[in-house]
Amino acid sequence: MKYPIAKPYIGKKEEKYVLEVLRSGVLSMGLKTEKFEKKFAEFIGAKYACAVSSGTAGLHLALISAGIGKGDEVITTPFSFVASANAILYVGAKPVFVDIDPETYNIDPEKIEKKITKKTKAILVVHIFGQSADMNSIVKIAKKRNLKIIEDACESLGAKYRGKNVGMFGESAVFAFYPNKQMTTGEGGMVVTNDKKVYELCRSLRNQGRLENAQWLDHVRLGYNYRLDEMSAALGIAQLEKIKFLISEKQKIAGWYDKYLSAYRNLAQVPIVVPGNVHTRFIYVVLIRNKNRNQVIKRLSRCGITAKPYFPSIHLFKFYRASFGYRPGDFPASELVSNKALALPFYIGLKEQDVRHICKILIKILTANS
Ligand SMILES: *Cc1c(COP(=O)(O)O)cnc(C)c1O
Repeated sequence: MKYPIAKPYIGKKEEKYVLEVLRSGVLSMGLKTEKFEKKFAEFIGAKYACAVSSGTAGLHLALISAGIGKGDEVITTPFSFVASANAILYVGAKPVFVDIDPETYNIDPEKIEKKITKKTKAILVVHIFGQSADMNSIVKIAKKRNLKIIEDACESLGAKYRGKNVGMFGESAVFAFYPNKQMTTGEGGMVVTNDKKVYELCRSLRNQGRLENAQWLDHVRLGYNYRLDEMSAALGIAQLEKIKFLISEKQKIAGWYDKYLSAYRNLAQVPIVVPGNVHTRFIYVVLIRNKNRNQVIKRLSRCGITAKPYFPSIHLFKFYRASFGYRPGDFPASELVSNKALALPFYIGLKEQDVRHICKILIKILTANS
């Protein structure tokens, strides 16, 4: 394929930092991880950051640290990557889905209160595709109903809501560094929090439940191996040093897509940026209005352009249906977006002429008589 869907942006600095680690002989639990955590916390404006082996691992630890477990319910969105709801299942709690706003694709705060029960302990807010959810409304509901907020900010590093960074609205927040995210460590994630207890618990849990500063191999609770290795941390430091560039390049590319597609709203709806939000553009998704999406994907692929459906609604995955009895029609806005959403090639290195070319072909396919 001439145009893949995503591609990491790796430079000389990344090579240098990773090589330094390889030559140092310290490949895990070293100073790179500590430095990465410190720099990351500073970037978000959080007191603490705990590096982990993936975003999914981070969500798992954030939920355990929030004290969520068997019999509890957690409100979340069906329109997300499957990991956000799966993490709720890992701790034995029940994900309670609330439909999305069909314009922003984020959870619809007006539909949250109806789903709160005596068992509800938290709202797991996902900031989808690089844009913050409606945090004023969500924070208000959480305060009123005494619920914790945990942010899944895995797709929205650097995004802001009314000037405030995502990741700073709840008890904890999780970021992810898979190669298609705003920055990458290969695999990796980060839990940020201002709560020292949450931080210390996460550090212990990621390291086999070991007590901090304790004797070697003193395990005080059931833990995991969710540590980030030093090569990944070094990669993370290099990427974080250029995060403003990584984000602004993607915003620029999104701007080109907007420019070449916005005259064709009836065919392909471009993403909406809510006033007051800084959108940091994880992927570029349009809604295909009038054509069979699989056909469009096939035709794009014949022209060397990769396009993918992003995201299927979580409640309609087989094991969610089997466990909770969900059916098509349960969350109409999420399903509508799931059925129409098409992610287009989106990575640093795309030039304006590439984007113009991709858009031209897309529009041609969408206006063809068949
Ligand atoms: C990427 C992502 C995660 C975490 O993914 P990992 O691959 O485990 O790092 C979690 N939630 C959402 C919404 C994501 O997009």
